[in-house]
Amino acid sequence: MSAELLIEPREVAPALRVIAVRTPTLPPATHTNAFLVGDGDVVLVEPATPFEDEIERVVSWVEDTVERERLRLRAILLTHHHPDHVGGAAALRERLRAPLWAHPQTAERLSGRVQIDHLMEHGERIELDGKRPTVLEAVHTPGHAPGHLCFLETHSRALIAGDMVAGVGTILVEPHDGDMQLYLQSLEAMDALGASMLLPAHGGVIADAHEKLRFYISHRLAREAKVLAALRGLTQNGTYVSARELVPIAYADTPQAAWPFAQGAATAHLIKLEREGRAAQRAAQWLAI
Ligand SMILES: [Zn+2]
Repeated sequence: MSAELLIEPREVAPALRVIAVRTPTLPPATHTNAFLVGDGDVVLVEPATPFEDEIERVVSWVEDTVERERLRLRAILLTHHHPDHVGGAAALRERLRAPLWAHPQTAERLSGRVQIDHLMEHGERIELDGKRPTVLEAVHTPGHAPGHLCFLETHSRALIAGDMVAGVGTILVEPHDGDMQLYLQSLEAMDALGASMLLPAHGGVIADAHEKLRFYISHRLAREAKVLAALRGLTQNGTYVSARELVPIAYADTPQAAWPFAQGAATAHLIKLEREGRAAQRAAQWLAI
């Protein structure tokens, strides 16, 4: 795995180019990767940046590449609705005169702010004509965000992974947009694709897709075990506790600065445990059962 930032455009697989643009994302990440896929018809994935200078850089990159190589930009694809992924969606739709494509649940969450021109469902195949025709397959991967899509490029089997995995930093799974049970199921589904590499939204290329996905799954399950152990310890006498009270125990190995985020993740684990009959909830207070 390379932690290297891909700020200057480069080709990470045949007909698969990437540029990292500065975005208001979660530290330690500072940039979001945008991808240009195809060598005839092309699509741009992740219209991420809201910053004007960075929008200019993306416009120049796309326009220069399209002109130099006589390409045709067909669409701009969204992985999900978070601001560090759609900050430039409306501006790039105008500037590049290309339609925005997204999952229906992403379109719903952007309603009134960003106009989506085409809804993409799980399994949709985006066929791109070119010297070597390319297919991008949309894979619905809820868990971090309800409408999250990954895109599998079927020649190289590179998987554009959005915010399901990260080359730098960690992935937030919290109850407002996320669902821990679905997140783990989606990671399993991604592993079953047999991708050759993962192209995350933040950080460098992840060369061993299988190893990274297994690590993510085992890491979450290990954390869940710690949340459950903390819950058992604190609720032995039948008293319910809040997710916040569990954090210093279940996340003792993480920096305190991350604890406000840990509270959301702990809640996502607790909701999963409740569905599995291993925890009970009463007015946002929890008990091990
Ligand atoms: Zn996100």
